[in-house]
Amino acid sequence: MSVFSSILTRVAPSPTGKLHVGNARRALENWLFARQAGGRFMLRMDDTDIERSKEIYELAIQKDLEWLGLNWDLYVRQSDRMEHYQAAAQKLKSLGRLYPCYETSEELEFKRKRLLSRGLPPLYDRSALSLTEAQKKAYEKEGRTPHWRFLLNPTKICWDDLIHGTLCFEGEKLSDPVLIKTDGFPVYSLASVVDDLDFKVSHVIRGDDHITNTALQIQLIEALGADPLSIHFAHLPLLTDASGGGLSKRLGSLSIESLKEDGFEPMAINSLLARLGSSDPIEPFLSLDPLVSSFNIEKFSKATAKFDVQELKHLNAKIIHMMPFSQAKKHLESIGITGVSEEFWNTLHGNFSTFSDVTKWLKVLHNDFAPLSFSSEDLDYLKLALTFLPEEPWGPETWKNWTDVLKEKTDRKGKMLFMPLRLALTGEEHGPEMKDFLPLLGYDVCLKRLKDSYASDL
Ligand code: GLU
Repeated sequence: MSVFSSILTRVAPSPTGKLHVGNARRALENWLFARQAGGRFMLRMDDTDIERSKEIYELAIQKDLEWLGLNWDLYVRQSDRMEHYQAAAQKLKSLGRLYPCYETSEELEFKRKRLLSRGLPPLYDRSALSLTEAQKKAYEKEGRTPHWRFLLNPTKICWDDLIHGTLCFEGEKLSDPVLIKTDGFPVYSLASVVDDLDFKVSHVIRGDDHITNTALQIQLIEALGADPLSIHFAHLPLLTDASGGGLSKRLGSLSIESLKEDGFEPMAINSLLARLGSSDPIEPFLSLDPLVSSFNIEKFSKATAKFDVQELKHLNAKIIHMMPFSQAKKHLESIGITGVSEEFWNTLHGNFSTFSDVTKWLKVLHNDFAPLSFSSEDLDYLKLALTFLPEEPWGPETWKNWTDVLKEKTDRKGKMLFMPLRLALTGEEHGPEMKDFLPLLGYDVCLKRLKDSYASDL
């Protein structure tokens, strides 16, 4: 007996580019839905566009989903299933629901414009339906190969959408969609419906840009002899950028790969994407489990959701602050960062907002840097500071003890008191609290860095 329930969801990116936050969000929602229901999740490559589909993108999408922790139970590549789409097309032809059309794209564009200029909806006029066999032969002799359209029924098409409630379309107000292109390849709608039916997909959770497609696909499901009620549809809104504009223009900069390169944690991305647009609060999570148990598609709104990199940064920092050393260690090793001690992590992780900060502060801790230039007053101050550098052992109180003495010996206070020391010891204006960082540096390193600061001046 199968350990899975009958729930099967899928995400179906086209391998024509990198996985971006929009696809990743769709994948995550489908994954969470399936996992919560004890069902399965399918990754499907919608690669029927052979010109634009590339193996490097297919591999990159797999890699990014794996990195996010979204494992799949089934993997389907549409280019491997062409005979199934041809068989479905054959069936539709034999039922008289798929008919050949010979218009060129220029002719179609001309018809479309004419209708629009008369204020009419740009529906295909079905003139190909009245072509005689002789006319079709003549076109073919001219060198035209047909594309094939699905003959829609003029009936009302309704379904209960999990996000939008009941949605209805009038069949006669829709254009007969092309299902087979002139090159003989199926278009997305045919391949998608055949796969959804063959694999018994139970829930199609996708972007609301597909709502009209769903109306067409429901008729297609019926025409292929299946029950449209066997599939539940949920159309979720797309993402916009923080200012409310469409995300598409900036998709390149919002690929999962680039977010990964920028040092974002997979769980920061998951924590944000899983709850964006839902009524559940966006919170940082260290694992997917709580997102699985709390996922509820009914909590998603119909309104577009805003993706804000600032919010992601915020979550990322919180996730790093929450992360225990044991988890951080594994993670650091997996991204090739070694040499982080538990003391370093526990002392400093509250200051990190990405893992690249870890590398930066490891360098600050272990590598000498070129001394900065100080004013002569500051150099005198640093010399004085060196003479009062406390003896070890050092602890969290060392910084205060040291600077209290310096305050007393000089008239300095506030920034004047701290900043030259911070700059001389770390080379940075900002960073972790010096009271935490000082004991990590230790007496010898501090002594050397203070000396180096004014050595160039001697
Ligand atoms: N390849 C389609 C897309 O990325 C899939 C849509 C669907 O889920 O059916 O938009």
